[in-house]
Amino acid sequence: MYDFEDLYRDIECAKRKGMHVEKIGKSYLGREIFAIHQGDMQGKQIFVQGAIHAREWITAKLLVTMMREYDGEVGVWCVPMSNPDGCMLTAYGIDSVKDQHIREFLTRLNPTGDYRYWKANCRGVDLNVNFNADWGKGRRNVTYPCSANYIGMFPESEVETKALVGFTKRIMPYATLSYHAKGRVIYQGYKEILPYQEVAREIADSAGYSLEESIGSAGGYKDWFVATTRRLGLTIEVGDDDCDITQLERDFGNMVGQNQYVLQILAKAKDIIL
Ligand SMILES: [Zn+2]
Repeated sequence: MYDFEDLYRDIECAKRKGMHVEKIGKSYLGREIFAIHQGDMQGKQIFVQGAIHAREWITAKLLVTMMREYDGEVGVWCVPMSNPDGCMLTAYGIDSVKDQHIREFLTRLNPTGDYRYWKANCRGVDLNVNFNADWGKGRRNVTYPCSANYIGMFPESEVETKALVGFTKRIMPYATLSYHAKGRVIYQGYKEILPYQEVAREIADSAGYSLEESIGSAGGYKDWFVATTRRLGLTIEVGDDDCDITQLERDFGNMVGQNQYVLQILAKAKDIIL
């Protein structure tokens, strides 16, 4: 398990080691959304985010590890846990929510009380279909609050989505990575826009993951980034497909190994990506 408390401890540790840390916003329940930085603060930047889906908390642990190991010059910003409320809900269930009305709301959505497979935030919105890129047109979209795939009332209706959009616009990264679990596959591009396929290919080969175009996807962070900037945006799905999502920590060592050159390859591509 890797939860918000673990992240908080790792952030404090990163600060002590001189890593730059910023708060880019707060979640619905008031938890900080942290961004950490390595490399040059000036010049072109890479942006990496993870754990936007609650049950994919393993990606937060992976990103903190990748940032610790990154020693390149090119600036890398990282939001390891984009959905802290959801991650706490999957870890501790309804006990992670103090407000009685929100507890009742969530219990109505999920009477079983088992939140280990939850993907949304604590308003029942799936943050990765809440971005402004053909919002509401995704293949699996739903229009009511629930554990996954609910698009929200309107694009960027959620504070967590807004925080990521605002931060991205501020740093204007030349490339972004969105970490998800699972499947060992990388999705590139958005609809007919497929920027810098050779860089995507090099990353996929280094990780040993397959590279696919994302078909039927809409409203995701990567979709929004590629659609609005036409720069390189990849969704990286880590983790063994044969492993249950709640058991993915078993595959953690492999994940770290598979992703060890990803940031380096992106950093090297700095001058070819506009
Ligand atoms: Zn996901």
